[in-house]
Parts: sequence; C-alpha cells; structure tokens
Amino acid sequence: MQKKIILITGASRGIGASIAELAGSKDYFVVVNYAKNISEANNVVAKIKAAGGDGCAIQADCGIEADIVRLFKEVDKLGKLDTVVANAGIVGGEVHITEVSTAQLSEVFGINVIGLMLTTREAVKRMSTKLGGTGGKIILMSSAASRTGGIAKETHYAASKGAVDSFTLALAKEVGMDGIRVAALRPGLIRTEIHNAHGGIPVIEKWASGVPLGRVGTPSEVAQTVMWLCSDDASYIHGALIDVSGGR
Ligand code: NAP
Repeated sequence: MQKKIILITGASRGIGASIAELAGSKDYFVVVNYAKNISEANNVVAKIKAAGGDGCAIQADCGIEADIVRLFKEVDKLGKLDTVVANAGIVGGEVHITEVSTAQLSEVFGINVIGLMLTTREAVKRMSTKLGGTGGKIILMSSAASRTGGIAKETHYAASKGAVDSFTLALAKEVGMDGIRVAALRPGLIRTEIHNAHGGIPVIEKWASGVPLGRVGTPSEVAQTVMWLCSDDASYIHGALIDVSGGR
C-alpha cells in the first residue's frame, strides 16, 4: 500500500525539519520543502531514509505564487496528498514601527500570510471531497506572538501570525464539511535559528525565566504536537489554536 503523503513547507531546518523527521518515522512519505538550503533539505531526507522512512526534497519559495503552484504539481506526481503543514515563516528582522517599509511588510506578509493562504488553497483544491478529493488535514504554523504581541520591533511578525489565527478560524468553517480538518499551532520560544533575528539562542535563554515551565522548547516538542493533530487521536480537533509554549 502506498504511504500517505505529507507536505511540510519550510522543512530544511528548525521546527519543519523536526516535523519531517517525525513524520518519516510514522510511515508517511515526506515532502521536505525548502527555499534556499538544498544541502540541509537533502540532509533531512537522508535522515528520514536512514531511519527506514521515505521522502524527497522540493525547492519552492512560499512567498512566490508560481513556486507554490509548481510545488503542488510536483507533489501530484508522487500520489495523493494526505496532509499539509504550512510551516514556512520568517521574522523579517527587527524594525521600529516608525521605520518599517512596505517592502519589509510585503516580504513578511507575503510568506507568513499570503504564502500560507495560497498553500492552503492548493491543498484544499486537492483534498476537498466536494471537488473529488478524499479529505485531508491542514496544519498552519502560527505563533504565541499572535496573542502576546511577541517582542518590540517585531510588530510585523506578530501581526502576520494574528492573521494566521483568524484565517484558521474562518477556514475551519469553510472546509469542515469537505472532509478537511484544520488546526493552527502557536509555539512559544522554540530553540531554532529563527531567533537569529534578535540575538539568537543566548537571548531566548534569558527570556526563559518568563516562561511558566522555566525553559525554552525544542522543535521536537512542536513536532510531536503536529503529528498528534494529524492523527486520528485528534479526530474532533478542528479550527483549534493550540499553544505549545510552556505556559507563556
Ligand atoms: P527557522 O529555523 O528559521 O527555519 C525556517 C524554515 O523555513 C527553513 O526551513 C527555511 O528554508 C524555510 N523558509 C523560510 N522562508 C521560506 C520561503 N519563502 N519558502 C519556503 N521555505 C521558507 O524557523 P523555525 O523556528 O523552525 O520556524 C518555523 C515556523 O514556526 C515559522 O512559521 C515560525 O514563524 C514559527 N514559529 C517559530 C517559533 C520559534 O520560537 N522558533 C515560535 C513560534 C512560531 P531555507 O533555509 O531552505 O530557506
């Protein structure tokens, strides 16, 4: 029997890579999307294969509509898509609101919001039972910043994740009767390179004292939650915004 196909955007590093490796161990065929880091993406696929799983890496910039459309067409050649994790995202640097430019806002919203929505569009077109599909799961990567405001000089990032939350709630109403289950994750401080935007891991370790669990989280802790959401154990979870934030 053919393995279920899962597509994870932004899976060459960080949280996406961890989700990809865990999905590979759970008998999915894993499509590892990346924008720039081909060697890291190939490394993730190699780890999946070394652990007995299967997958491939496909380049596509999730800030470019034509790339997203091409990505899904390439996945179509592999078989039926079961699950999409729209994880690709950027902080977009630190900038005070008085200095922010349209170009910066367009880049962040282009990937974190428009790219995520276009990724969802392509997924729903394939999964919807009303359009001839057999259903599926869509997991959207938000952030605790959507409800805490994140940190100063990253208003653009917090606002983009607020949009992901609103989109998740509306999407759940739109596709719930199409055989598609939708949820968003709101990670807190997770140990990845995304924090290079504001000083890296040493800086977030300092902030850990403000986390009720007293520590930052790991990509693997987010990945475990994603795979639970994708499983039948979470069959009545729909339109939910799930915090993976150590209580932050
Ligand atoms: P990361 O370590 O910086 O990794 C980002 C990943 O996204 C990389 O694989 C990168 O691929 C990919 N990517 C970036 N721009 C892309 C684009 N335009 N198209 C396709 N892929 C792209 O980030 P992370 O911490 O794992 O974050 C993953 C998601 O979790 C993001 O949506 C982020 O907002 C969210 N999140 C993270 C945290 C945290 O504390 N880490 C907290 C809350 C939410 P390449 O390297 O190949 O370009």
